Amino acid sequence: MLDNNHRIINYLRLSVTDRCNLRCIYCMPEEGVKFISHSEILTYEEMLHIVGLCVQKGIRKVRLTGGEPLVRKGLIGFLEKLCKIAGLEEVTLTTNGVLLKNLAADIKNCGICRINVSLDSLKPERVFRITGRDCFKQVWEGLEEAERVGFNPIKINVVAIKGVNDDEILDFADLTLKKPYHIRFIELMPVSEQNVWRPERFMSTNDIYRQIQSLGNLIPVKPNPYDGPAQQFKIEGRQGDIGLIGALSNHFCSLCNRLRLTPEGYLRGCLFSDQETDLKTPLRQGKKDGYLLQLIEHAIKNKPKEHGLLKYGPRKCIRRMHRIGG
Ligand code: SAM
Ligand code: SF4
Repeated sequence: MLDNNHRIINYLRLSVTDRCNLRCIYCMPEEGVKFISHSEILTYEEMLHIVGLCVQKGIRKVRLTGGEPLVRKGLIGFLEKLCKIAGLEEVTLTTNGVLLKNLAADIKNCGICRINVSLDSLKPERVFRITGRDCFKQVWEGLEEAERVGFNPIKINVVAIKGVNDDEILDFADLTLKKPYHIRFIELMPVSEQNVWRPERFMSTNDIYRQIQSLGNLIPVKPNPYDGPAQQFKIEGRQGDIGLIGALSNHFCSLCNRLRLTPEGYLRGCLFSDQETDLKTPLRQGKKDGYLLQLIEHAIKNKPKEHGLLKYGPRKCIRRMHRIGG
């Protein structure tokens, strides 16, 4: 379905929980996080219902996110049902990888087509500093298991932060030589209460592009139609790709194809806008599908035109990243 700015909206990011087993410096504080109560979080049945309605309004790809999706109990049974929704062409998942080793085979068997694993450093002690947990070994074993059970490609999300991991850009890019990994460098976004975002920490995708140019000829790769606004390249002769997600520097709102559903059932058109549509209340009140479809259509049509971060500067949203789903 088209929004009021002529964009095709076909991609839903579904946050199944606000809980997480890590505390990444740019996402969740170590202490004082108020989690949503279980009764306020959508049940899996409610999520399946809403996704089914979104498919009727043109959604073709769903990405599971969070919080950390793998910490929610019963996820595999949910994935089995989600992947069977008629009309959905792709179901993918983003995880921090900590619990992946034991779940990769089941996730694959459900029909999840691709996974993204977030990993910001290849140095265990640095991963500890960024995530607050000593988890590098678990994440790496999770990646290897995902590869073993046949996920291909495996995407690795790297949030690039000056003074934290900017000296590892080429090491990550080098992984594409030996492995079919797609490395996606993401600009640090100003979405957290602890406010780690500072101009001096910000590394633009242009800075990253300049570094990886030193590794060889960068050949642009056409992204798949649901990928949204990532720039993709292959370094000549390598297995994997490089993706650059310039959420701030590259003004890509005109290409944005996404909607987001929060764990408590709010539909959002933009990560950086607090404009949201409550679907849980009418669903629990027993409102008819026709009514819910109208709300979804209204949310799609009125998706914000742009995030305005370049115009108005970084700002915080009322919900943190782990409550929206990054
Ligand atoms: N827990 C899962 C994970 O970390 O992959 C899924 C949820 S997480 C919110 C989704 C993605 O958002 C991750 O790749 C994470 O690195 C990214 N992210 C979180 N906070 C961010 C921020 N302030 N700036 C840029 N990316 C961020
Ligand atoms: Fe958890 Fe993912 Fe946020 Fe890190 S980025 S704290 S793993 S939800």
